[in-house]
Amino acid sequence: MPRLHSTVTLLLAFLFLLIPAVQAFQNVCPTCRTLADPEDVVCRKCLWQLNQCLVCGTTNPVSANFCAQCDNALAPSRVLATIDPEVRAKLKLGASPRALLERDLSRLQHLLEVGKGNPEEILFQIGLTLKKMEFAAREAAIWADFLARFPASPKAEEAARLRADALFRWGALFYQQGDLEAAEERFRQATEAEPRNDTAWTWLGRVRLKLADGPGARAALQQALTINPANRSARHLMGVKPAAHRPPPPAAPEPEPAPAPAPVPTAPESAPAPAPVPAPASPPPASPPPAQP
Ligand SMILES: [Zn+2]
Ligand SMILES: [Zn+2]
Repeated sequence: MPRLHSTVTLLLAFLFLLIPAVQAFQNVCPTCRTLADPEDVVCRKCLWQLNQCLVCGTTNPVSANFCAQCDNALAPSRVLATIDPEVRAKLKLGASPRALLERDLSRLQHLLEVGKGNPEEILFQIGLTLKKMEFAAREAAIWADFLARFPASPKAEEAARLRADALFRWGALFYQQGDLEAAEERFRQATEAEPRNDTAWTWLGRVRLKLADGPGARAALQQALTINPANRSARHLMGVKPAAHRPPPPAAPEPEPAPAPAPVPTAPESAPAPAPVPAPASPPPASPPPAQP
């Protein structure tokens, strides 16, 4: 019985959460519940602005999903409009750095979808926005898309560098979670995207040492040192013996608080540092993205 009760409570909570979304999609005035026609701008009964953009102030017909003036998505405005402006300002609703990034992203994706503006520039901006949002996997996919669609772009070189950087940070996340196989693949892709990135080569060598791939590690570290002879991490790792056995892949996909390394004998002469300093002028491994809504 308590189980059923909690299920019902959960369901109710879920339905309540859905109410603003449902209202936002219906042609119903949120204040007086009068039904509006798709082309209506204000409620016929109470004159409520049915679909005003809170970013630029433009009034849009109730059927519009994006502002005719600034191309921002209107659903957040429809929900926010029902909240007292003072409360909205006080709580900075819809104005947090995260919300602003989400807003930018949906506007850019909309522009791309409807073919408005320069797709090359828009796709590049989407990549930069995802970078700010720390969505390394999605960001890497956008740069790959950019390079496939606009190989002759003057920004192609920068996109390749950004792609390598995103793949590297994605690999670092896998590494932190103890998924060394997945980390190896991303680090390898990063070296392919930007062959002159000695930090990516170093981390490829590091993860291969843990995966008991001595020759692979050596080749990667040698490459790092060829590119940057001053790379101290690569030089240090050159003296580290590879693990004796390939560690088993992690059981759970979610991040573990402390990735327990497999009990493999390590080289006696060197203590493998778990988080050595990456080479200068290269990005450090990203920390996991904040779990924000
Ligand atoms: Zn009304
Ligand atoms: Zn607008």
